[in-house]
Amino acid sequence: MNIQYVQGKPLFINISKNTKQYPYLTQDIETDVCIIGGGVTGAIASYYFSKNNIKTVILEKKRIGHLSTGISTALLQYELDDSLSKLQEFIKLEDAIRGHELGLVALKQLEDFIKQYGNKCDYKKRDALLYTAKTNEINAIKIEYELRKQNGFDVSYIDENTNEFSFDLKAGIISKDGGAEIDPYKYTHQLLDISQSMGSKVYENTEVIDLIHYDDYVDIITEFGYKVKAKKVIVATGYDTKMFSDRNFATKATTFNVATKPVKNFDGWKNRVLIRDNSDPYNYLRTTNDNRLIIGGEDVEFIPDIFDEKLANEKYDILENRLKSMFKYINHIEIDFRYCGTFASTTDNLGFIGEDTKHKNLWYILGYGGNGILFSILGGMMLSDLYNGKTNKDMRLFRIDRFDN
Ligand SMILES: Cc1cc2nc3c(=O)[nH]c(=O)nc-3n(C[C@H](O)[C@H](O)[C@H](O)COP(=O)(O)OP(=O)(O)OC[C@H]3O[C@@H](n4cnc5c(N)ncnc54)[C@H](O)[C@@H]3O)c2cc1C
Repeated sequence: MNIQYVQGKPLFINISKNTKQYPYLTQDIETDVCIIGGGVTGAIASYYFSKNNIKTVILEKKRIGHLSTGISTALLQYELDDSLSKLQEFIKLEDAIRGHELGLVALKQLEDFIKQYGNKCDYKKRDALLYTAKTNEINAIKIEYELRKQNGFDVSYIDENTNEFSFDLKAGIISKDGGAEIDPYKYTHQLLDISQSMGSKVYENTEVIDLIHYDDYVDIITEFGYKVKAKKVIVATGYDTKMFSDRNFATKATTFNVATKPVKNFDGWKNRVLIRDNSDPYNYLRTTNDNRLIIGGEDVEFIPDIFDEKLANEKYDILENRLKSMFKYINHIEIDFRYCGTFASTTDNLGFIGEDTKHKNLWYILGYGGNGILFSILGGMMLSDLYNGKTNKDMRLFRIDRFDN
């Protein structure tokens, strides 16, 4: 079956003025590393490898940044999807805390990237709010706050009496500089521009259809018969991994987003923080550089070939109403874009970075979970170091086989 991963009219692709197109592969070539997938993960990988003087080629089967990357809400937060207490059911507390710390490491990498190359992707550092509107969950938020504070995270606690937001909040944690926002489509193109200036080659409309593994290299076969010979292959194909492994990496869901037209005021949205509630599934909200509001959530079990228009419209309406009721002091909230797509999560909230268990030259960077883009940054850092013989000890947290028994 032909699986459809995104639907609707995505904000970031539609407002983009970027008309850049890349060629398709028309000859056999050789490289150090071939990256399969031209979303934000492939672009990040290409950047880190190129920076480490490793030759890369990206092969994208359709258009650069037009799948999950183009519909990503791109809230970048160090905190994982579940609370530290919940994560302890699946991993050691120290590993969950390390997962959070690594989020901060990735955020710092992004900040340094912007300082070095300029802000061409609407990057903005933000505080992050995690909150509940339910009295019976106040305690859970308090526990989370204490755990984070004890472990050195810069957090403050707010409640009904100190709530400066216009929506009902019983308890919340503000993480100072706990996140950032970007335009994921612009970020992808910025990364590729820089990578290309360092020698990386990018091909779109070039689908990989097979891999032939040898001891020291891999032949990557593309749809029209041309091949890339590479010492290592990086799988950066997002939620589509069937061709490389029969492993079921994660639980898939479909998540929904609506984005408004630019608004004129942000009353009731203090400091335009990144917002997430602790519902299951949770709602997530941000503002954009051009003054739009985005709300996402209402996740449903993954439906291959997602387009159930009736269901999607119901979900978009729920999100629109929720946004309007949360921000009654923001004037003229009008919806401009509605879109949805596949999302994948793991029980320990971490993505996958590392070697395949059968083929030593096949490596993965799968940015699964709400922190997908930050995991991709970590993947780029860790695997480019690994290529140069340096093993990062935190890679064990992202191992491909960590759920095998
Ligand atoms: C609605 C939504 C909201 C999200 N919000 C956030 C968020 O707020 N913060 C966050 O960090 N993450 C978020 N995510 C997750 C984040 O979007 C993803 O982690 C990220 O975009 C994945 O990028 P990617 O490059 O790995 O995958 P993709 O963007 O899907 O790119 C994979 C690429 O691989 C290509 N490909 C696949 N197979 C082949 C092949 N055989 N040959 C060649 N090319 C191939 C595809 O065409 C595609 O372009 C969200 C996801 C969704 C759907």
